[in-house]
Order: sequence, then structure tokens, then C-alpha cells
Amino acid sequence: MKAFLASCQELVFPSSCLACRRRLSWRRQPLFCKDCREQITPVAQPRCECCGAPFAAGANHLCGPCLKQHFAFDLARSALIYQPPITHLISALKYQGRLTGLSSLAALARASEGFRDLSVPDLILPVPLHQNRLRERGFNQALLLARACFPEHRALINTGVLQRHRQTPPQTTLSGTSRRRNLIGSFSLIQPHMVNNRKILLVDDVFTTGSTVHECARIIREGGAVGVEVFTLARTS
Ligand SMILES: [Zn+2]
Ligand SMILES: [Zn+2]
Repeated sequence: MKAFLASCQELVFPSSCLACRRRLSWRRQPLFCKDCREQITPVAQPRCECCGAPFAAGANHLCGPCLKQHFAFDLARSALIYQPPITHLISALKYQGRLTGLSSLAALARASEGFRDLSVPDLILPVPLHQNRLRERGFNQALLLARACFPEHRALINTGVLQRHRQTPPQTTLSGTSRRRNLIGSFSLIQPHMVNNRKILLVDDVFTTGSTVHECARIIREGGAVGVEVFTLARTS
């Protein structure tokens, strides 16, 4: 009966590949055809033990910037390399509010190597948008990702702790150092006692230079957090 209902559902609402729209004969997440699935590259080992930057060969170790304690977080992990078709799905989520790919992206994230390295947090903070941008967009993609990737910790997700109170120019136009400088003073803690003595997990969509999550982690540490880890769906390389 169950199989019969599933085939009826398949006839009425056939599933299709999220990337190329090719029809699929299954409905299980992630919804990508074989060819598109092969284009999706997970962030694999070897990688930097701190920031998660992938290396071409060798064993896991600390990258140059992390040896110099470049970042304020303890550990950052990303599920996927930021390249097509993932770039298109993230843009569709972020700029068009297309939620269709969210469950599949979360399924890939939860199955990733980096996901398993994360500690159990006391509090999950999605990287906030400035309130003007939030009003424009209507949602924060980092919050949607946090909910989809950590459904068992949904009660720990809090959007009232960290705020972005300065709108900064689009980060993509700036170099790493300028990004960092540009972000100083952009975030603050609304409720510092919420992070004090707690292990915090920051969630965002993409890790590019790490400047945004570094600045959030720096503020959170100032609030007395005992640990800050970062999870992003994708990273640029
Ligand atoms: Zn496809
Ligand atoms: Zn590193």
C-alpha cells in the first residue's frame, strides 16, 4: 500500500534534480541526478585542523594563518566546496528565497566529514544580517540553514544574542585584510550573559576569507564564551 501510494505521488509530483531539473526516479534527499552529484565536491581531509582549509596532499595540520592564531574561533568546518551547482542553490536560497533545495543541502551538510568534528554546543548562533537587509530579504539564510542542519538542537538556536548593527559594503569586492578591517564594530552582543561560560556554534552559508565568522567569534569570546566553533555549508577553497 505504501509503495502504491509512493508511486501515485511520483506520478502526480515527480521529483527532479535541483541543479539540472532532470527527472529523478527517487524522492530521497539529496535530490541531485548522478551527473550533478558528481559536480558536488565535499570538503575532505587533509585539511587545516583549525580553519578547515583543504590541502592537496599530506596529513591534517595547521595552515600558515592558523599557526599565527589568525582566527578567534577554535575550529571551522564546511561541508562542500563553493562551486556549481552549490553556488546556484545558495544564491537561489539567499536572493530568491527558494527553499526547495534546503533539505537536500542540509542532508549533504549532515553527511559531511566536517559535521562530525563539531562539539555539542550550548548555543547555536546564525550569523545575523543587518536589520535593513533582513527586512529587504525577509529571512536570514544562516538561520534557515541552522534549523535545517541541526534539527535536534533547534531549541539551542538563538537569534536574539548577536546583532549586526552596521551595514557593510558587499564583502565580495574586498580583499581579506580589508574585509577584516571593514567588519570591526559591525557586530555586538545584545545579551552577553547568554554566551558567558558557554560553547557556541556559529552557522553561516559560505566561508570565504573567514573574516565574518572571525569577527563574530571575537565578540563572542569577549563575552566570556569558553569555545567557539563555526559551521558553514560551503567554503570557497
Ligand atoms: Zn542534475
Ligand atoms: Zn587554518
